[in-house]
Amino acid sequence: MDCETVMIAKVTGKCPACEDYAEWNSTTPSKIAVMACEGACSRGEVARRAANLVAHRLASDGTVRICLGGAFTKDTGQRNLVRRAEKVIAIEGCFINCSSRMMTGVLPGLKPEIVRADLIYNLDLPFGIDEVPDEMFTVYAYRVAEQVVREHVRGSSASGSDTGPVSGGSGCSAPPFSCGRVVDCGDGPDRGDPNK
Ligand code: SF4
Repeated sequence: MDCETVMIAKVTGKCPACEDYAEWNSTTPSKIAVMACEGACSRGEVARRAANLVAHRLASDGTVRICLGGAFTKDTGQRNLVRRAEKVIAIEGCFINCSSRMMTGVLPGLKPEIVRADLIYNLDLPFGIDEVPDEMFTVYAYRVAEQVVREHVRGSSASGSDTGPVSGGSGCSAPPFSCGRVVDCGDGPDRGDPNK
């Protein structure tokens, strides 16, 4: 696997809100960790909103929302939530798969279940969030979140039995990812994924 090395400056301070949230949610058994592309573009916005809906609305009892920036850049409570989670869900905005790639970089061996949000709502969105009505974000984010809860949270190891890959539509998958589980997201158009 071709990799790049990144030097991240350490910080001494901690974000109290982030650490308190992590401590509060560091339960036994562990909750399902939900992370997402927190990206700037409208596809990332759908992924971010969907992750928030899963962890704060639709499945708040069994899931915990991961601060990707915090978990990636410092080894404190947020990274520990991912480290100790029996299941990690990565809601990705596009084929770049940023959240799962970032976290497997700092936690080798991590096997997140990757959900490609853009293949669920199945529409080419522009980059700018100012070009997408807020109502559309709500509709798409709910669509993604509901599928994540239905296929990845319910019946998971934290609440039941199935820990295997989740099936859905056919013929589409995230790009081959040596240390992540590839999860089918339903048929969708090619979003510029060079691996497709
Ligand atoms: S281009 Fe991809 S990685 Fe970047 S913000 Fe958008 S969805 Fe996220």
